[in-house]
This record gives sequence, C-alpha cells and structure tokens, in this order.
Amino acid sequence: MKTLITTGMTLLAFCVLVPATTAARDLLLSGRTMGTSYHITIVRSEAAVDQQALHADIDRCLKTVNVSMSTYDPDSEISHFNRLKVVGQRFAVSTDFYTVMTLSVWLHRITDGAWDGTVGPLVNLWGFGSSKKTPAVADDDAISDLLANTGFQWIRLDPPASLIKEKAAIEVDLGSVAKGFGVDKVSALLRGRGFHDFLVEIGGEVYAAGVRSDGAPWRVGINLPNRGAAPDAVYKVVALSDQAMATSGDYRRFFKEGGKVYSHIIDPRTGRPVDNGTVSVSVIAANCMLADGLATAGMVMGPQAIASLADSLPEVDCLSITSNEDGILHSFSSGGFSRFLQ
Ligand code: AMP
Ligand code: MG
Repeated sequence: MKTLITTGMTLLAFCVLVPATTAARDLLLSGRTMGTSYHITIVRSEAAVDQQALHADIDRCLKTVNVSMSTYDPDSEISHFNRLKVVGQRFAVSTDFYTVMTLSVWLHRITDGAWDGTVGPLVNLWGFGSSKKTPAVADDDAISDLLANTGFQWIRLDPPASLIKEKAAIEVDLGSVAKGFGVDKVSALLRGRGFHDFLVEIGGEVYAAGVRSDGAPWRVGINLPNRGAAPDAVYKVVALSDQAMATSGDYRRFFKEGGKVYSHIIDPRTGRPVDNGTVSVSVIAANCMLADGLATAGMVMGPQAIASLADSLPEVDCLSITSNEDGILHSFSSGGFSRFLQ
C-alpha cells in the first residue's frame, strides 16, 4: 500500500491512496512543498512526455504559491502584508494571492465566520503557527487581546488586486486553503499540458481528474481519525472523478495539557482550539481550495452545520466524524456523500 505519510516535522496527511490507485504505466511525480509532500499520478497518453521538464514546471508552480502565501517565508507577499501595520494603505498583491483572498472573503461569509483567515496570531499564541512557540494553554488576557484584532472583515479587497487593512494589527493566515489552492494550480497546469486523467495530492488534499488507467474512478481513503491509528489506516474509501477532496482533523497536530487535548484549529469566536467532539471533516467539491477551506470550517461548525452548508452549495458534499469520551466514532454526512462511498 502506498501511503502519503512521511515522518518528522512534516505535516501528516489525512488521506491515503488505496491500493491499485496507480498502474505500472502511470507517470509518478513527487516532491516537497508547504512543509509537506506532494504526489502526482498521471495516466500516460500516447504522446511522449518530458518527465524532467514537467517535474521542474510543477516545482516552479508550487514555489510561486509559497513565495506568495507562505507565512513561514519572511519574504513572501503575505509576510510583507502582515508586517504592514497601517490602516487604509493600498497593498498590491499578485493575481494568485488576490484570487485566494476573494474566495476567502466568500468562505468567511458563508461559514458565518467559522472560517477566518486572520486567526494566525491566535494559532501562534497556542503554539501551532510559524512562530516556533511551544504549544501550551494560552492565557485568557492574551486571547482577549488577540481576539480584538481578529476578523476577516477588517481586510478590504480593492480591485483589481490590492488589499487594504482596516485594523493595523490584522494578519492573514491562509494555511487552511493554501494546499488546496496549490492542488488546483498544479491541476490547471496539467490540464494545460493536455492531460485529462491524473491525481494531484498535496499533504492529503487531492484533486482527481478523469479516471485511472483501468477506466475506473480514482479511489482515495479517508484516514481513521484515531490518535493511535496507523497513518495508513482507512476509515472510508471514496471514488472521485473530476472532484477534489480535502480533510481537516484534530488527531495529527495537537497537544495535551491537564488531560485535555488542544488542536490547531481555532474557533474564531472564542480564540480557543475547537472543542466540539469533531475529529475529522472531509469535503468533496469541484475545486480543492474550496474543499480545503470548508473542511477547516467544518471542524469549527460541527457536523450538522457543515452538512447543511454543503447541502446548500452546488457540487459540495461532506463527511464529518465525531468521537465520544470512550473514543467511539460516529459519522454524519451531507445528503449526497453516500454516492462517493465505495
Ligand atoms: P487545515 O489543516 O487545512 O484544516 O488548516 C489548518 C490551519 O489553518 C491551521 O494550522 C491554522 O494555520 C489555520 N486555521 C486554524 N483555525 C482556522 C480557522 N478557524 N479558519 C481559518 N484558518 C484556520
Ligand atoms: Mg483546510
């Protein structure tokens, strides 16, 4: 079985490519990006492919996303924007960054603020962010101070491609959508090269185009969301064709203090890690950035609310998993999710 998991400081993925996903003739490309790994499977057409050149183009494409939106790179566009502590000043950004910000404004609105790309300082306060702080329970006053400077509504988008801060201290963290956006960028690159059947995966977020070489849909496993489970343990397998899937969970990045578990997904209304029993949310959508953002939002919203939202959106479905105190898992999905289950 091929797993998507690597070790050490890497962000671990929440999905597993199930056996027989790839065939001997497939072109396999992999590498590292955004603090994690990527894996691409391309069904070979008859046309010759310059594998090295394609691989280099993919790496270049992903580098561009990082240089734009990585808060881990002090020279990225987003880091420059975050250091600008001025209200009302127009800050010109790249088309990529502006595109992500435009979708982000919508995500913030449709999730009633459960998705909020300004939680970065709170993520850092709890020790999960780019500031190498040790994870620990945060101080109430520090949470209140940062909450006063949280809220995506404090950023104004100024067409064609500028951002304006309406609060000087506001900072942007696109960690919850960047991998999905990267998947979409690479998928667009591959389509542009004439490929119709491929699977792109970055840190567990996937886009499955067309079908496998045997003509069947791509099959992707959602991890068993248990802290002790093997990284390639599968909870459910879904079949995807021209769909993206992203998963957020609380069982990979967390710390324990006083017997309680704290995860890296922050509820923007409380400034604290989510604490609603949801351990995993997978979202299927037409593009991966949307799936990625909604999966993170689902961890905050809880199973019923994210399912209602998915039901109200075209081509969006979700599966949430909750765990009770005894570790018994329950799943709850949107109306259309079962058609993807294998
Ligand atoms: P993901 O793994 O896609 O769910 O993204 C998790 C990352 O998104 C975290 O590490 C934070 O950087 C950021 N984040 C945490 N909570 C939220 C939230 N409520 N809305 C948006 N981004 C968040
Ligand atoms: Mg996400």
